[in-house]
Amino acid sequence: MTQHEAELEKFKTLHNRFRVQPGYQSIDLHGFTMSEKPDILFTALVHGNEVIGLQVLNLFLEKTLKSNHKAPYTFAVLLCNVPAYDKNQRFINKDLNRSFQAPIDTPKIEKGQEYYRAQQVEDVIQNLKPRFIIDLHQTTEPTLSPFFMLPEEESLVRSASVISKEWPIITFDPSGFSKDGKTLMEFARGEKIPALVIEISQNGFDLNLAKLICEQLFYLNAELIIAPPKKDDVSYFKITQHLTKFIVGSELMPGFQNLQSVKENDILGITPAGNEYFCPADGVFIFPKYGSQAEVSTELGLIATPRNLLQLKADS
Ligand SMILES: [Zn+2]
Repeated sequence: MTQHEAELEKFKTLHNRFRVQPGYQSIDLHGFTMSEKPDILFTALVHGNEVIGLQVLNLFLEKTLKSNHKAPYTFAVLLCNVPAYDKNQRFINKDLNRSFQAPIDTPKIEKGQEYYRAQQVEDVIQNLKPRFIIDLHQTTEPTLSPFFMLPEEESLVRSASVISKEWPIITFDPSGFSKDGKTLMEFARGEKIPALVIEISQNGFDLNLAKLICEQLFYLNAELIIAPPKKDDVSYFKITQHLTKFIVGSELMPGFQNLQSVKENDILGITPAGNEYFCPADGVFIFPKYGSQAEVSTELGLIATPRNLLQLKADS
């Protein structure tokens, strides 16, 4: 059995061990809750190839069993795109994280696996009504640290800073992350359930990193995350620059990593004619695109620029 198969088997075995525990309820073929209205729902495998989320949840569930089922809060877990995980692909027909709240008049041809799965996940979340959602993802390129992704909202920024003071917080405009469709986080927001993403690392299993994330999640103070104190200022970043490929065939310089600092006018890439593509602002690089990912995208990546909550309040 490959590790890929073994991790999914492990999840199923752990799931079975929880079935006999007080509070257990099945919420989905690939998920369960330990409470009627859990404090935190952990979701993983929204992108099927971001496998470390499953590894983190397995460690978390094991630790919960070993510690006599006493995580310091109530939780639920849900694997979102197992068919894509089985193929080690981001998705089967369409990115699940662009498939939420799809219009009712979606043409039949676009109604693939993820269209229906998004509706199932929406139903699960609406019925479960978790108080908070943490969605586990993994970057394609290396990252200097795990980091948070969330819409730029004071309470969510504060929640993220409660989860970890060390992991950078990357926000995006609350009006929408992508024109291609709604994310799980955006769906949750519409349901008035606060939700954020943790981007863990480059693709692949990584036991030491998964352990680190598991420890961080296991000892969370759920009450502080759900209702974070409103006193100190918090520094974070906001995605302000989409590095549009103005010329088809433009490519990034090799070696950019997530969270890498960049300065205005740094050379980020090169056009097919050999002209330079300059960085539009000081900030950190997010989701640099290489290889097949770069070929299908109209962007080379994103730049997030420094902000803080005092600035956010002053602007609003
Ligand atoms: Zn992802």
